[in-house]
Amino acid sequence: MQQLIDGYAKFRSNVFPLQSALFEKLATGQQPQALFICCSDSRVVPEVVMQCEPGTLFPSRSVGNLVPPPTETASGVAATIEYAIRVLRIPDVIVCGHSDCGAMKGILESENIESLPAVRSYLEYAGPSSRWLTRLLKDSNSFSFEQRLKLLTEANVIAQMHNLRNHPAVHDALNDNTVRIHGWLYEIGTGAIQQFDVEQGRFRPLLAEEQTAAAAAPDRERRIA
Ligand SMILES: [Zn+2]
Repeated sequence: MQQLIDGYAKFRSNVFPLQSALFEKLATGQQPQALFICCSDSRVVPEVVMQCEPGTLFPSRSVGNLVPPPTETASGVAATIEYAIRVLRIPDVIVCGHSDCGAMKGILESENIESLPAVRSYLEYAGPSSRWLTRLLKDSNSFSFEQRLKLLTEANVIAQMHNLRNHPAVHDALNDNTVRIHGWLYEIGTGAIQQFDVEQGRFRPLLAEEQTAAAAAPDRERRIA
């Protein structure tokens, strides 16, 4: 805890004075560029990865970056989505999964979360496609645990993009062509981001220069395209 208080003291004495103009501007309003739906995992820090200032991202964090269906109107995620789209008019929504996700591991090995009823219940929002895929992968001997985890994490991002589209605010904004939905995967150990290519049905490096490098190398991800 002392580390946090020391950090705050540093912020007050060194950081805040240097950015006082930014904070003064932010004191009366916000205009974020993107709604960022990601996992609660402490290792996923989008502001660091994308090097952005306060006020740039509108975050929605929950276990497994899940988007409960619109019928769950009391969920914090639904309220965040509605406010982001209808009030802040945010033009881009990013659903971002990540490597080594505890929630995805919990789905793959549900016996490990039997003593966590709240987690188990929330993970139901991963939906039927995750249960189907988990069963399919469990029945197959051709995938290691790491491969199964990666496939489920990818499938979960795609499923949550679908859930997102069904939220009334997002549905209306899509019809009006005022919002774009993106599916990302963040690799903690390398810092690399992959983006879901809807046309090609696979994840590709977000940066164009990394796409070229990936195209030249054997790509085992293509097996699930
Ligand atoms: Zn996670």
